[in-house]
Amino acid sequence: MRYISTRHGLQGNPAPLSFQDVMLAGLARDGGLYLPESWPQFSKAEIAALRDKPYAEVAFRVMEPFVGDSFGEPTFRRLIGEAYATFDTPDVAPLRPLGRPTRTDAGLHLLELFHGPTLAFKDVALQLLGRLLDHTLQNHGQHATIVGATSGDTGSAAIEAVRDRRTIDIFMLHPRGRVSEVQRRQMTTVLAPNVHNIAVQGTFDDCQDLAKACFNDLAFRDRHALTAVNSINFARVMAQIVYYFWAALKLGAPERPVAFAVPTGNFGNVYAGYAARQMGLPVSHFVVAANANDILPRFFEQGAMTLAGVVPTLSPSMDIQISSNFERLLFDLYGRDGKVLAEAMAAFRRTGTLAVGANALGGVRALFDAGRLDDPGTLQAIADASRRFGETLDPHTAIGYAVAQQHRRDPKVPMIVLATAHPAKFPDAVQKATGVRPPLPSRIDDLMDRTERADRLPNDAEALKALIDERMSAREQKGRTSRAARPKVRT
Ligand SMILES: *Cc1c(COP(=O)(O)O)cnc(C)c1O
Repeated sequence: MRYISTRHGLQGNPAPLSFQDVMLAGLARDGGLYLPESWPQFSKAEIAALRDKPYAEVAFRVMEPFVGDSFGEPTFRRLIGEAYATFDTPDVAPLRPLGRPTRTDAGLHLLELFHGPTLAFKDVALQLLGRLLDHTLQNHGQHATIVGATSGDTGSAAIEAVRDRRTIDIFMLHPRGRVSEVQRRQMTTVLAPNVHNIAVQGTFDDCQDLAKACFNDLAFRDRHALTAVNSINFARVMAQIVYYFWAALKLGAPERPVAFAVPTGNFGNVYAGYAARQMGLPVSHFVVAANANDILPRFFEQGAMTLAGVVPTLSPSMDIQISSNFERLLFDLYGRDGKVLAEAMAAFRRTGTLAVGANALGGVRALFDAGRLDDPGTLQAIADASRRFGETLDPHTAIGYAVAQQHRRDPKVPMIVLATAHPAKFPDAVQKATGVRPPLPSRIDDLMDRTERADRLPNDAEALKALIDERMSAREQKGRTSRAARPKVRT
């Protein structure tokens, strides 16, 4: 499988890249996002053959065409096995009905994606990506430095995915005092020597600008081999495609179509579902569920993407201004013409608006419904699921649950709601809605007692770069005297 950028053609026609190149690069050099040249195709018989297979086996079969011979089958299987052994259930992503499906109503189902180490769906992709990166770097005798910004869930999932790896150091910026205590502690209590938490005096946008400043300083970028593991990394999309197959198979795929409702921020998760459908999985439609930051519902209603300010909500992982992965869907809407899309994206930067034609809009509307829910609605949805089904939902999942019910097109088609976080990750909202504070799962129930470590920095790119330079040269000094830190080169 070879990969191209959504803006290919903008700077001539660079040669398509391999999976490992794309995984290491994250963002394309022309500013676009990487995609496979074409989607691998699964026939009905190939999909049916995955039924009743363990999660790791479905994962291997679905992802194999994307990685080709990058790792070799035994190694790829081993890395998948290790990634999903960190989940607290052998099913990895359990699917459970909400109430009892009947002959006329196939019902709502919850796909629990929060059984990984940091209790949010981002573990599904990052636990694998951390291992794929580490393996690749080890083989090349290389070291990479991850610099990222987080408003909550990404930071802890990325840290947990690479902690204690000799090939990777991670610098994670969070806005001081603006992430929840559970989210902060999930990052700052990881005391591994390669993990560097930085509490920035500023907002999430400031943190993102600081991270960008590091990438834009090319000498700095090359000196530390900077890499990004945010949701634009194609390897994350790939790992998320798996659970769409997994869930649909449990409800009768490929003979019976299913629908998915996805709590959406950067459009990475629901885009993986779109990819699964492009690969042959029968999906009737997707429900894109947003909070008050509703750039996507507005797009699906009006055919135009228009910037607005971000407002903080009870579902902070969906508080976004622009959905970065949406460019991958736009690529198809623009007839996979990278040059035209690049021009449209540049105009969007200038004007704050991007509109598509009626034909393109009709096409996406056939496949995507979208809706929004504000904070009072979110609390009501949490209370409603608790009362009707005895199910405790986190605020993100609750939005998917409520918007899904407004967009059942055919009651005979099961509607699968993606449960993207464990309720204990957002205890205040859940307590407000239900009166009950959800306990932390036993694997992290001592989180509030663990020691924290973080550096504090002002909102200043030079201070950040100086800290990274200093920290990395200290790490290299240590590396020279300790065998454990030396990169291992395999033959
Ligand atoms: C990241 C996140 C989302 C949004 O997912 P995208 O892929 O950015 O659309 C939704 N819910 C939770 C709990 C998340 O952590």
